[in-house]
Amino acid sequence: MIEIKNISKTFHQKEKAFKALDNINLTIEKGDIVGIIGFSGAGKSTLIRTVNLLERPDEGQIIINGKDFTKLNSKQLASERKKIGMIFQHFNLLSSRTVFENIALPLELDNSGKEKIRKKVNELLKIVGLEDKANDYPKSLSGGQKQRVAIARALANDPYLLLCDEATSALDPATTQSILELLRDINYRLGITILLITHEMEVVKTVCNHVAVIDKGQLVTKGTLSEIISDKENPIIKQFLKSGAMTIPQELNKKLEKEPKDGLFPLIEV
Ligand code: ADP
Repeated sequence: MIEIKNISKTFHQKEKAFKALDNINLTIEKGDIVGIIGFSGAGKSTLIRTVNLLERPDEGQIIINGKDFTKLNSKQLASERKKIGMIFQHFNLLSSRTVFENIALPLELDNSGKEKIRKKVNELLKIVGLEDKANDYPKSLSGGQKQRVAIARALANDPYLLLCDEATSALDPATTQSILELLRDINYRLGITILLITHEMEVVKTVCNHVAVIDKGQLVTKGTLSEIISDKENPIIKQFLKSGAMTIPQELNKKLEKEPKDGLFPLIEV
């Protein structure tokens, strides 16, 4: 379980101070897929970066599985971060390394033996559907394939949590769907909790069980998908509805809540 407790963060630039996060409280249950949605500049990236302390909050606590991350020193944090995978909008692959070598990187940094690395990377290539691309270089891959490599790399150390920072924002709609399907598959097959940030309601409605809406650094509302979109009096939700981004069938969330926890989780057509 991840508890984000009373998190605040102010950035200082020259003489100006800017409060990017203002007393955020959010609990994420194990095995959940939680989406944090908000407009550009709302504080989403800052929030997700505070979860593994890439960004240190000024106030508040990040408690993961009972451990207060804000109290850990840098060595302890480095060790904890191995169990938290992270994927980004622009994949962040190393162009000089093959697909295999990119995925192997966290294992190499962990001083794993050659045979263990070979076995693990082959297993991950299978999970992300890139068995035939092991020896290719990133420049020859499509955006979706690059993100698959990044996902495989994020899974190398068997994380319990995957943080996704606008992971599909650089992809076309069809590729976005296939990457979201992969994330859903990983969540259900490997039991990995997923926290993702996005400015797109499409993303949230495809994969998330729970949603938190943030605006101007504050948590506006949180709940299940249907709870969020039925909150039509909320001015931020209103804005999303107006932009046409929030058009979720009420049935969808009921379906999501009823889905079995084992086996492959099919994507729901909406
Ligand atoms: P989002 O991910 O929702 O687009 P961000 O968390 O990236 O929003 O940024 C929230 C606000 O904090 C923005 O106004 C941004 O300019 C500011 N901000 C983010 N990181 C920094 C930083 N390192 N220094 C100064 N301001 C920052």
